[in-house]
Amino acid sequence: MAEFDYDVLVIGAGPGGYVAAIRAAQLGLKVACAESRETLGGTCLNVGCIPSKAMLHASEYFDAAANGAMADMGIDVAPKLNLPKMHDQRLDAVGGLTKGIEFLFKKNKVDWKKGRASFVDANTVTVGDATVTAKNIVIATGSSVTPLPGIDVDNDKGVVVDSTGALELGKVPKHMVVIGGGVIGLELGSVWRRLGAEVTCVEFLDQILPGMDEDVRKESNKIFTKQGITFKLGTKVTGCSVRGKTASLTMEPSAGGEEEVMKADCVLVSIGRRPNTDGLGLENIGLGVNQRGQIETDHSFCTKVPSVWAVGDVIPGPMLAHKAEDEGIAVAENIAGQIGIVNHDVIPSVVYTMPEIAGVGLTEAQAKERGAIKTSKFPMMANSRAKTNHEPDGFVKVIADAETDRVLGVWAIASVAGTMIAEACIAMEFGATSEDIAYTCHAHPTHAEATKEAAMGVRGKPIHM
Ligand code: FAD
Ligand code: NAD
Repeated sequence: MAEFDYDVLVIGAGPGGYVAAIRAAQLGLKVACAESRETLGGTCLNVGCIPSKAMLHASEYFDAAANGAMADMGIDVAPKLNLPKMHDQRLDAVGGLTKGIEFLFKKNKVDWKKGRASFVDANTVTVGDATVTAKNIVIATGSSVTPLPGIDVDNDKGVVVDSTGALELGKVPKHMVVIGGGVIGLELGSVWRRLGAEVTCVEFLDQILPGMDEDVRKESNKIFTKQGITFKLGTKVTGCSVRGKTASLTMEPSAGGEEEVMKADCVLVSIGRRPNTDGLGLENIGLGVNQRGQIETDHSFCTKVPSVWAVGDVIPGPMLAHKAEDEGIAVAENIAGQIGIVNHDVIPSVVYTMPEIAGVGLTEAQAKERGAIKTSKFPMMANSRAKTNHEPDGFVKVIADAETDRVLGVWAIASVAGTMIAEACIAMEFGATSEDIAYTCHAHPTHAEATKEAAMGVRGKPIHM
């Protein structure tokens, strides 16, 4: 009889976990995946990437029709919002994709163990009432919304909500206050602004989108302001009381100062996410967490307990689905005795607003700390396709090492920046110089030509400027 029930048990079926499970099965291992949610796909497919993009896509069409962008192209329409139908198409997208993972599990013979998993020892977990043993256990439990002390989220009431509640609002708020000018605040704030809400974004820091290149942060602020979002930067929310359908928020300057009260019929708390480790029984295997609550691993994604591995939002690094997926593939390959590597220096990040905001590698400030650099910025206004499509906002910025010309970072604000950034990732993964990008033929007319021109600009030779 086999020593263990499985070669690999994955805990959590988000992009980190389900991908690890499928890859391990593809490599010939006997695999199970435990998931406490009713459906597979984790945060990303159920309440994250996919439903938010469904609402962003639909609201973008509505906004284009309502704000005159369609009329500018000779299409006169008077849009009428059918919010229940917009929600239905969101749920359709989620249902189709989560069922798709179920199909892939069956196809690859991954056993789905339904229930919450908790460690008994380094090779044994309980999943609900069952006990499962495995030679290797991968923790891929993801993350949850960080609460703001003193502010109670109640998604059912719909007045003070987190991202899950903000995806499901039954009516367009009159005034939505978004706490946190990060990715969720800007994406979901944009959805409801486009559908007619007045949106105020309160950000603790003196600029939105922390972690992104400084030029990108400033320019994004201008673009969102032009779109009608009001920013209160350098401001902290100190309390919130709800009466009926109205929330009263107290806030003051982050550095301290005079208090202000703001009323809203919807408040979105989006100040970050924290790793899920509660109730996992880590104490039973002698595994701790770091100061940020994350599980530390080595480069192969093995924890300090040799049979226990971890990937995705629960370990250090950006909380992004594609980072979790790549780690899921790598961990499965390492468990199978292959060499699975993730280059954490080349993980793109994208904000799916209109225009999209994307970046990979170092910001200008980070690059300057490491040595002399050259930078070049090419405006989308000078890109023929963007100009023709009435999408003048944004730019592409290339940051290269002054001596070797190696590309250190690429940042873009453009309608399709999320797609454009893949080129920069490939270039950086292959150790490209700005000259390599500049002398690569790009199809005309495409937004991607702006990346080529920005690269040409590093040596001072863009054509269309
Ligand atoms: P998760 O997707 O969180 O999955 C973990 C799973 O583990 C969950 O299903 C959970 O139920 C389960 N679980 C937890 N504990 C246990 C247990 N003890 N037993 C059994 N199961 C357990 N990222 C992007 O890259 N692009 C985007 O556009 C994007 N949009 C987002 C929009 C929103 C609104 C949110 C909230 C997030 C978004 N993200 C996006 C982030 C992305 O969703 C996460 O980075 C990604 O889901 C992390 O994958 P994961 O596998 O580590 O964890
Ligand atoms: P975030 O870390 O992106 O932004 C949180 C913001 O809240 C920061 O700007 C921070 O300064 C601010 N903040 C913190 N405390 C505050 C306070 N008390 N008052 C006011 N502002 C405060 O977090 P998020 O937007 O909640 O997103 C969580 C995670 O989900 C992110 O790590 C992100 O990577 C991921 N996500 C990714 C995407 C995407 O890839 N498109 C979309 C959504 C979410």
